[in-house]
Amino acid sequence: MTLPPLPPSLRPQLLKQLVAPWPSQPELVLVTDLDGTLLAGPPPWRQRLYGWLGRQRQRVVHVFSTGRDLGSVGRMMRLETQLGLPHPHLVISDVGCTVACGHSLRPLPELVAPIDARWQGLPERLLPLLRRIPGLESQPVTADRRLAYLIDPARIDPRHLRALEVHGVDCLISGERYLDVLPAGINKGSTLLALLQSLGLDHGLVVTAGDSLNDLAMFETGLAGVMVANAEADLRRHLPQLRRTFAARGEGCAGIVEGLRHFGFGHLLDARFLNDPWPAFNPDGPTALW
Ligand SMILES: [Mg+2]
Repeated sequence: MTLPPLPPSLRPQLLKQLVAPWPSQPELVLVTDLDGTLLAGPPPWRQRLYGWLGRQRQRVVHVFSTGRDLGSVGRMMRLETQLGLPHPHLVISDVGCTVACGHSLRPLPELVAPIDARWQGLPERLLPLLRRIPGLESQPVTADRRLAYLIDPARIDPRHLRALEVHGVDCLISGERYLDVLPAGINKGSTLLALLQSLGLDHGLVVTAGDSLNDLAMFETGLAGVMVANAEADLRRHLPQLRRTFAARGEGCAGIVEGLRHFGFGHLLDARFLNDPWPAFNPDGPTALW
């Protein structure tokens, strides 16, 4: 199910709500999952990548795409800014159900409203059914426009989840223990496409990166995608069908950089990034690819 096309006039309205200055001619739109992807790797590596992102604000649009809620993104930012992570331009959170300014973390109503409309009435219908499914435990998150659970894989019966989908939702399991109940057709991929369209961003400039099943929808868009080496096995199984997804040998943030080079964006890695002395880690490890 695809979202209705957005009016072209949305761009100025959206840009006005973003705190970070918008590049006049973006050369790359880097869309990174957080846990297991941008946040994976020893602190010196992350620091190196974060420093580069900070220096490239006028060339690179950075978008987080995460299963976290906005509160959790804010808490993570307070920690990672100590390593130099700049606020991204935009955040897609709640597995695609929220879009916000990357600095203020204020949701962008123009992009959230169509998702909200699809969510109306669903929690009331679904919560009583979900309470009766064995092996589910509510996640302690403010889940906007979705319901989030932890699952007990030994007790959960996938048929119970499939039966829920007739009510207009998608049930998405990732990391073998997280269940998200999302409005049908809404995911990280559909929301990213809506965002690119509303901002008039060229698909050829986009590189996405992720490690778990909730990133599959981004890879299925056909945009350039980087599956980092530590990706979960259930995601890796889809690789043969993903025509524009590159399987990196590097884990987490090292995989992102490897993917940028693979897709022809290596020229954006500046001398400071390339000439940084190697951080102290095992230089023979599979992630030593910078
Ligand atoms: Mg992840």
